[in-house]
Amino acid sequence: RTVYVNGDYLPEHEARISVFDRGFLMADGVYEVTSVLDGKLIDFAGHCTRLARSLTELEMTNPHSDDEWLAIHRALVAQNGIADGMVYLQVTRGNPGDRDFAYPAADLPPTVVLFTQAKPGLADSPAAKTGWKVISVPDVRWGRRDIKTVQLLYPSMAKMAAKKAGVDDAWLVEDGFVTEGTSNNAYIVKGNKIITRALSHDILHGITRAAVLRFAVEAQMEVEERNFTIAEAQSADEAFITSASAFVMPVVEVDGTAIGNGTVGRVATRMREIYLDEMRKAAV
Ligand code: PLP
Repeated sequence: RTVYVNGDYLPEHEARISVFDRGFLMADGVYEVTSVLDGKLIDFAGHCTRLARSLTELEMTNPHSDDEWLAIHRALVAQNGIADGMVYLQVTRGNPGDRDFAYPAADLPPTVVLFTQAKPGLADSPAAKTGWKVISVPDVRWGRRDIKTVQLLYPSMAKMAAKKAGVDDAWLVEDGFVTEGTSNNAYIVKGNKIITRALSHDILHGITRAAVLRFAVEAQMEVEERNFTIAEAQSADEAFITSASAFVMPVVEVDGTAIGNGTVGRVATRMREIYLDEMRKAAV
């Protein structure tokens, strides 16, 4: 595989990052994951906008224009022959040459890394036909989940708890309400209404969420942005999650209780179809 490191396209075994990189020592960095379908990038503008926001929140300078980011993404997709898969992008605060809690000078160059992962048949995941089962776990993450940082240890722990319980993912619960999934936004459906938590520092501002809510309104669905509990999810008609890599994925069970009749719902299926159709048309 060819990977990108600070301006160079290299075979992955030749890539080098300092042990003093703040991404490595302090998880001081941000990332984006862009899906690739038929060799094209899905919702690329959305990822660029959020990357810029994450960097601003951490007082980091964006090392590239959106056009430059696009050129790097396209070069890697081409060099690795990716038809379906994803591009991972990470920007860390760089290598100050020592370990210190205070940020280094703002003119220290950041460390920029991108790589690809091939995922043949990404949009035809069999799981979309059967749906995910989830468990709930306490949300003990930090208070700025709106910044897409590389601090992913708790989401990894929650994913492992899900695996050990024999299910697909975990929904995180804080003060009695679902915040989001380990790496996705969470929704329930009641009649013609899609319910999902409002944007705040408590959740990642999913770009798939933004697109799906827009398409839902266009499809004459009602959208209600508010908190919901696990009990409300268990008695809802349907549930689903969204993320840039899973698109729209139905959820059929929460903490052992089937949602609706326990099969993939009509609304989730329709939103998945609309999302994939529209985003393929707008892919770059
Ligand atoms: N919430 C969390 C915690 C995530 O990590 C992600 C994606 O990685 C999402 C939500 C979904 O965001 P997006 O739709 O932009 O992929």
